[in-house]
Amino acid sequence: MQNLRFKALEMAMTRTQPVVEYPRLKASEYFGELTFNRAAMREYLTEEAYAQVMNSIEKGEKIDRKVADQVAAGIKSWAINKGATHYSHWFLPLTGATAEKHDAFIDPVEGGRGIEKFRGNELSQQEPDASSFPSGGIRSTFEARGYTAWDPTSPAFIMDRTLCIPTVFVSYTGEALDFKTPLLKALYALDKASTDVCRYFDNSVTKVIATLGWEQEYFLVDTALFLARPDLVLTGRTLFGHASAKDQQLEDHYFGTIPHRVLTFMEEFEYEAHRLGIPVKTRHNEVAPNQFECAPVYEEVNLSIDHNQLMMHLLDKVAKRHNLTTLLHEKPFSGVNGSGKHNNWSLATNTRENLLAPGKTPESNLRFLVFLVNILKAVHEHADQLRAMIASPGNDHRLGANEAPPAIMSAFIGTQLSTMLDAIENSEAHVALKPETDNDLLKNLPKIPEILLDNTDRNRTSPFAFTGNKFEFRAVGSAQTCAAPMITLNLIVADQLIRFKSEVDELIAMKVSTNDALLKVVRKYIKESKAVRFEGNNYSEEWVNEAARRGLSNLRTTPEALMAMADSKAVDLFERNKVLTSRELHARHEIHLENYIKKIQIESRVLGDLAGNHIIPVAIRYQNTLIENVKGLKEVLDMQTYGKLSRNQLDIITEISEHIDKIKSFVNEMVEARKVANRLENPEEKAFVYCGSVLPFFEIVRFHVDKLELLVDDELWPLPKYRELLFTR
Ligand code: ADP
Ligand code: MG
Repeated sequence: MQNLRFKALEMAMTRTQPVVEYPRLKASEYFGELTFNRAAMREYLTEEAYAQVMNSIEKGEKIDRKVADQVAAGIKSWAINKGATHYSHWFLPLTGATAEKHDAFIDPVEGGRGIEKFRGNELSQQEPDASSFPSGGIRSTFEARGYTAWDPTSPAFIMDRTLCIPTVFVSYTGEALDFKTPLLKALYALDKASTDVCRYFDNSVTKVIATLGWEQEYFLVDTALFLARPDLVLTGRTLFGHASAKDQQLEDHYFGTIPHRVLTFMEEFEYEAHRLGIPVKTRHNEVAPNQFECAPVYEEVNLSIDHNQLMMHLLDKVAKRHNLTTLLHEKPFSGVNGSGKHNNWSLATNTRENLLAPGKTPESNLRFLVFLVNILKAVHEHADQLRAMIASPGNDHRLGANEAPPAIMSAFIGTQLSTMLDAIENSEAHVALKPETDNDLLKNLPKIPEILLDNTDRNRTSPFAFTGNKFEFRAVGSAQTCAAPMITLNLIVADQLIRFKSEVDELIAMKVSTNDALLKVVRKYIKESKAVRFEGNNYSEEWVNEAARRGLSNLRTTPEALMAMADSKAVDLFERNKVLTSRELHARHEIHLENYIKKIQIESRVLGDLAGNHIIPVAIRYQNTLIENVKGLKEVLDMQTYGKLSRNQLDIITEISEHIDKIKSFVNEMVEARKVANRLENPEEKAFVYCGSVLPFFEIVRFHVDKLELLVDDELWPLPKYRELLFTR
C-alpha cells in the first residue's frame, strides 16, 4: 500500500509550470471587456434605453417593461458577440457564497432550428426554486418560490461563457433571502442621512455613496497535498499538524519576492479579474509562509462586494489550473497567522469629496469632524452589532489571537485627532466658521490638514482604525462576505446621522446658530463615545482589563457574539431604518447559529475519523515495529546491555500507548458531548453547547496527535506535514 502523503509529495515536487498564454496587450485594452459597462451600453443600447438605465443606476428609478425588452436585446447581442451561450441571474444567498442557475439563450423554433432568445422579463426577474437555500424558517411557512430581480447598479458580466446578471433574491412573500437586498436598503438609508447632514455645509451635495476597498488574504497549497488532507478538504483548515521547525519566525516571507509559481498564478487571476472590471491593484506575500494578499482600488460598496465575491471565486478557479488550492479559511494553520479581509471604508459625495478627508477650509473641517464623531458614536453604540456580523467559527480563531484585533470593538483615530477631540470636549467656546472672528474654535485647534501629513500614525492592532481618509475595519474574516459587516456599518452610521440631525435641528429651532448647534451636539457625542476610542496595543492583556472597566464587551465566541444579532435593540435599529424586519432578522440569526453548529459538527466528525482511521492505526503499526525490535534485542543482547539500551525504546512504546489511550478516550468523550448537543432543539442553546462542550476537545485531541507526529516514523505518517504544506511552492 502506498502512503498517500508520499504520493502527493512526489506529485507536488515534480510539477511542471503550466504555460499561460496572454494576449500581448496593455491592461487598459482589456480592462472591463467582459462587463456590460457604460461603453458597451452606449454601443448596444438605444438612446432611450441607455438614459433609463443610467437613471435607474443613479436615481434608483424603475425601468419600464418596453425599455427592459430593449435593454435585454442589447445585452443579448453584446453577450453573444463575446461568445456567451447561457445567461444566469447571479445572487448572494445567505450561505455567504454566490449562486447561479444557467439557462441557454437557444430556443427551438419551427423547422428544427433554434434562435437565441432573451427578453426583458428574463432580464428583470426570475423564479429560482428557493427551497434549498437557507431561509431561517421563512420559506417553510410559505411557498418554496423565490424571486431574483435585476440590480442595475452592478454591471452584468460574462464568466465561463455565461452572461451573469447581478440580482437581489427575495421570497414569494417579499422577504429578503440574500445579502444584497438589505445592503441596498442600508446604503439608501446612509445616502439619505449623510446627504441631509452634508447640506448643513453645502447645498450642492445631493448624493453620498459609501466606498469600500477590501484586502483579501489567502493561503495557497499544492493541490496534491491539499487532497491528501481530509481536514483541509472537508473543513478548510488543518485539525492536526505539529508546527514546522521553521515557519514565520524569521519574518522572511512578508513582502518578500513572490515565488515564481505563485506569480504566474497571480498574473492569470489578475488578467481575468481585469477583464471582469475588478480593479485589482496590489499583490504581495503576507506574514505566514504561503500566505498572500490582493487588493483592488476602492469602489462603491455594492459593486465592491460583488467584485470581492467574484474575486474569491476567481482565486479558487484559477489556482486549480496551476495545481494550487486557495485556502480562504481564517485559520487554516495553527501557530502561524490567519487570514483577514480588511474593509477600508469611507463616504464620498456627488461633488467628489471624501467626507472622511479633512479639507482645507474650516467649513470642510467641521464637516469632517461631524462625520468622524458620528461614526465613533455609532460604533460605540452598536459595537455588539458589528461584532455579531463578523462572527464565524473560522474568525473565532483569529480575533484575539495576537495576530488580529481582539473581539473587543474599539476605534483608533491617531494622537493628533485624539488631541483635537479632547480639546473640543474640554472647550466651551462657540465655533465660528469665519477665521477672522475672535472666538473661532477651529482656529485654536491643531489644523486638521497638517495632522494628515503624519500618515505613519497607524495602529495595526485596532479593529477599526482611522487611516487618514478612511476607516479600516480589520476584524473581518477572509472567508466572509463583506456584505454582512457592510450592511451593519452603513446602517448604524445612517441611524446615528439621523439622530444627529434631529438633535441639531432641535437646537436650531431654539434659535441656536447652526454652527453652534453642530458643535454642541458634536461635543456631547465626543463625551458619550469616548470609551470606544483606544490608541494603545489592542493585543495586550491590559487592554482586555481596561476595556472591561470601560464597559466594552468582549464577546470571544460566535454564540456569544450572535446574541446581539437579533435582540430588541437590533430589531429596532433594523426596523426603524427599513433594512430588515424583525422576522427577517430572526431568520438570519437562526441561519448564523445553524451555520455555526454545522461547521463545528463537521469539524468534530472529521477530527474523530482522522484520529481513528489515520492516526491511531499508524501509531500502532509503528509501535509494533518497536516492539518487534525490542524483542529482537532481548534475544541478541546479554541481559545487562539489553537493560541499559532498551530503556529509551521502551519509553517510546509507552509514550505512544499513552497518547493513543488519550486520543481514544477524548474522542469518545467528544462524541458523547456531541450526542448531548444534538438532542437540543433550541439553536442558540445548541450552539452554546457545541462551543462549550464539543469544541474544547479539539485542542486536547490535537495535542496528543501532534505529539505522535513527532514520535512516529516519518515514512509512515499519512498526513502532509506543516513544513510540506507551508513550504512547497
Ligand atoms: P494599507 O496600508 O492598509 O495596505 P492602502 O492605502 O494600500 O492601505 O489601501 C488599502 C485599501 O484601501 C485599498 O483597497 C484602497 O483602494 C482602499 N481605499 C483607499 N481610499 C479609500 C476610500 N476613500 N474609501 C474606501 N477605500 C479606500
Ligand atoms: Mg490595510
